[in-house]
Amino acid sequence: MSTFNRAEAIIDLDRISANVAHLKSIASVDLMAVVKADAYGHGLVPVARAALAGGATYLGVALLEEAIALRDAGITAPILAWLVPPGSDFTTAVDRDIELAAASIIALEEIGAVKSAKRPRVHLEVDTGMTRGGFLGEWGKLDAHHVAGIDVVGIFSHFARADEPGEEQNERQRLRFTEMVATLESFGYTNIIRHLSNSAATLKDIKSKFDMVRTGISIYGLTPDVKTLGSSTSLGLQSAMTVRAKLHLVKDVPAGSPVGYGATATTDSDTKLGVVAMGYADGIPRVAQGAGIFFQGERAPIIGRVSMDQFVVDLGAKSQAISGDWVEIFGDGATGGYTAEDWGSASGSINYEIVTRIGPRVPRIYRSSSPTTE
Ligand SMILES: *Cc1c(COP(=O)(O)O)cnc(C)c1O
Repeated sequence: MSTFNRAEAIIDLDRISANVAHLKSIASVDLMAVVKADAYGHGLVPVARAALAGGATYLGVALLEEAIALRDAGITAPILAWLVPPGSDFTTAVDRDIELAAASIIALEEIGAVKSAKRPRVHLEVDTGMTRGGFLGEWGKLDAHHVAGIDVVGIFSHFARADEPGEEQNERQRLRFTEMVATLESFGYTNIIRHLSNSAATLKDIKSKFDMVRTGISIYGLTPDVKTLGSSTSLGLQSAMTVRAKLHLVKDVPAGSPVGYGATATTDSDTKLGVVAMGYADGIPRVAQGAGIFFQGERAPIIGRVSMDQFVVDLGAKSQAISGDWVEIFGDGATGGYTAEDWGSASGSINYEIVTRIGPRVPRIYRSSSPTTE
């Protein structure tokens, strides 16, 4: 821990490995660790290594650049990139053994035209009811010549409402997926990887496991939805990211003092305020109200608006905090501190957005019992 940092995100890689192992034991099929968006803000390469150490057999990313960064780091596991638009460098993808999702005939034609010593490996993405990515009407027009020169190695789809396990739409999506798989099999493809489940479905929907699950948020130890699925802890997950920052300044403030831009809050008694050295440029949501910091066993809530580089908390008149103390912004909540879920609900958002938006000015500090995973 550098004494020069004013804020840092501490990432426990052992917890990521343990979460992957736990999810794999629940799924009892292969597991793709989803490491898009800098591994949900946790750091692409260290997380990928920790996930593979925990038993992941595939890595999933959105962008081709993310897949290339994994290859540049020397990672040789299978990688699927699913958001690679027309005009991308498909030749590099194929040359570097990066598997690609295709959701249209145009995409298949572009991938099929790649000149490489290797054959492109493609997962067909099908729309089973989310109405975002994936083949929909064009599925009926697909025939063998569109995939000549391509190895179709997988078929996948994505749930819109897996975090609402009782929803009928999940059942409809699974049935539609089964039909679309059958169509592909009727073309003679029999040994393909079928994958449908995200974290929520992996945890709650045993019928949708197929050959592989694609888990993102849960490998970081976070619940897909605390209200419908329960807390991280109740799901057997251990949150991997702890964000902490320094108190830039602690000072006594009289009752009736307006705090921050717009004077949206006023101290209601004489108190001690702490200025925390993180702001919305670092991913602390400007609208957050009701979250705060944790120091020496006590929560101190945000008072006033979050600024770009700092926010103010009400420590209470009796607080022992002094300028320069480290305080926890969020962590696993085990001893009473705020969690990423708390910050999500304090800002009308979700834990996914809180962790992925911790900004590049906040260094990631890795903790691991195994030196090889860093
Ligand atoms: C992000 C993503 C996932 C992971 O979802 P989680 O809810 O984080 O588990 C899985 N599949 C696809 C296609 C995704 O885009």
